[in-house]
Amino acid sequence: MTSGLLEDASFNQSPAFGDVDLFTADRPLADAAVRLGLDTQVLSACGRDYGSAATLDLGRVANENPPKLRTMDGKGNRLDLVEFHPAYHALMEKSIGHGIHASAHDGSEPHGPLASRAVRLYLATQAESGHLCPITMTHACVGALAAEPALLKKWRSKIQSRTYDPRPLPWREKKGVTLGMGMTERQGGTDVRANITSAAPHGDHVEITGHKWFMSAPMCDAFLVLAQAAQGSGGGGLTCYLMPRYRPDGSQNNLRFQRLKDKLGNKSNASSEVEFHAAYAERVGPEGAGVRTIIEMVNLTRLDCAIASAGQMRIALSQALHHIRHRSVFQKKLADQPAMRAVAADLALELEAQVALVFRLTHAADHAASDPREAAYARLLTPAVKFLVCKSTPQVVYESLECLGGNGYTEDLPLARYYREAPLNVIWEGSGNVMALDVLRAAGRHPEAAIDTLARLVRTASQAFHVAPLAQALEHTLKSADAERRARFLCEGLARIAALAALVEAGSAFAPLYGETRLGAGHFAQFGTADLGSAETELMDRALAT
Ligand SMILES: Cc1cc2nc3c(=O)[nH]c(=O)nc-3n(C[C@H](O)[C@H](O)[C@H](O)COP(=O)(O)OP(=O)(O)OC[C@H]3O[C@@H](n4cnc5c(N)ncnc54)[C@H](O)[C@@H]3O)c2cc1C
Repeated sequence: MTSGLLEDASFNQSPAFGDVDLFTADRPLADAAVRLGLDTQVLSACGRDYGSAATLDLGRVANENPPKLRTMDGKGNRLDLVEFHPAYHALMEKSIGHGIHASAHDGSEPHGPLASRAVRLYLATQAESGHLCPITMTHACVGALAAEPALLKKWRSKIQSRTYDPRPLPWREKKGVTLGMGMTERQGGTDVRANITSAAPHGDHVEITGHKWFMSAPMCDAFLVLAQAAQGSGGGGLTCYLMPRYRPDGSQNNLRFQRLKDKLGNKSNASSEVEFHAAYAERVGPEGAGVRTIIEMVNLTRLDCAIASAGQMRIALSQALHHIRHRSVFQKKLADQPAMRAVAADLALELEAQVALVFRLTHAADHAASDPREAAYARLLTPAVKFLVCKSTPQVVYESLECLGGNGYTEDLPLARYYREAPLNVIWEGSGNVMALDVLRAAGRHPEAAIDTLARLVRTASQAFHVAPLAQALEHTLKSADAERRARFLCEGLARIAALAALVEAGSAFAPLYGETRLGAGHFAQFGTADLGSAETELMDRALAT
């Protein structure tokens, strides 16, 4: 009797979300993939893989069993090992198998390599975000390693391997490797020039001594590290190095992990504090050019922050839509209650625009080398898009969580985890103000290209909404003495116009509605306050197609 009561379907709860093709069910994403000429069959298989109930559950388990640091064994011998749960390893194996760590550089996708990989990253993050930290860093570090072709050549086949090999061994003995990076120190994160970790020359390499306040994924096989080169024939100054976990003679390198950070979210991922005691490293790029060298990695990481945040918003909204389609209140499904439809459709409209924008940016990044206009777009828009998309994520995830009522707030469902993860990408690789100031910097360094990019965005966006007054205000502010104080206004204004332009370029019927509700007068900031009229049904249907 009791068990019958407990299993009664009339409890009006939605079934578990899972076994969904996260690619095909997401019409804005699938449309973007078609526009970019990507292989939709392969991406659909990837969407089924990450959307399977089993994979989604790996995400839960990996976060309920966070990594543990073992600094020493019971006899006092140094170990400096981090142990991860098998669920984490399973996710790593999957994402490396899908090539998210390397496919943009290995020639396997000659057509739109960054865009195709971006779709897979966006899908993977919906299952679990923490493990994607080393996946993103491995992908992004290749950008910086390109500054030292001989070094990249040595490591390339191990980086490009699709075999995940977590064994703590010298990199040459492994079937595949992952890369991390250590830039942030206690006294300087954003301001890396304040770094005091130092590199002393030692024959054909350097020995690095110092401390990093944040160094994530400490079980990676090597790390890009910024350190001050000693003044000498090379000129000295902040320089980029590659620091392997094992020295060339096979002995363990002198990385001493102090502790793992106790973080708000991102529990499956380990983020360490680490000391270097004359640790072996090889130079990457010219001495003194550390910032210039590592910026190639930083730009790829910033792009990934935006892509992953879009995926985080998407999974939260999918969970919400799934729930409200099953849950009834006052004899009517929540998805048919007018006030709930206003919220869900407004969230869906935001995702329509931000997904179009993120994939427009990956297209620009894919074509930057051959097309100066796309290069200018990528330079100006990367920080602006990271700003808008990452900053929208906590709000979208929170509203989605609220759609599930009290259940959304419990640890039994993944929404609480998504919510804790949501603010991280805003901070990583440059927080909000830093991104806004970076837009100013990009515009200041290449003023003509920036004005040309803005003009082209305005021309396109104007097909859907009258953005000229905003564009004039942006241009006026940009040229004013007050630009730095108004940096967030400039950054969000630019990103919103670019989002509208991306919708127009995508041929979206929702472009005028987005322009009116995001850039027009008389609208409030909370989701659900905009009047989306008859567009509600299609927006909701496209957000999670069944
Ligand atoms: C979970 C996690 C993992 C991480 N992993 C790594 C890693 O693997 N490797 C690594 O190197 N780092 C890592 N970081 C560090 C991260 O990249 C930095 O925390 C981030 O870049 C911000 O630097 P900071 O903490 O020193 O803050 P600060 O630079 O002190 O910034 C503090 C605030 O001031 C603002 N600000 C900065 N400059 C200005 C300005 N000129 N005008 C106005 N406002 C400004 C910023 O926007 C921010 O809001 C990690 C961080 C976290 C949370």
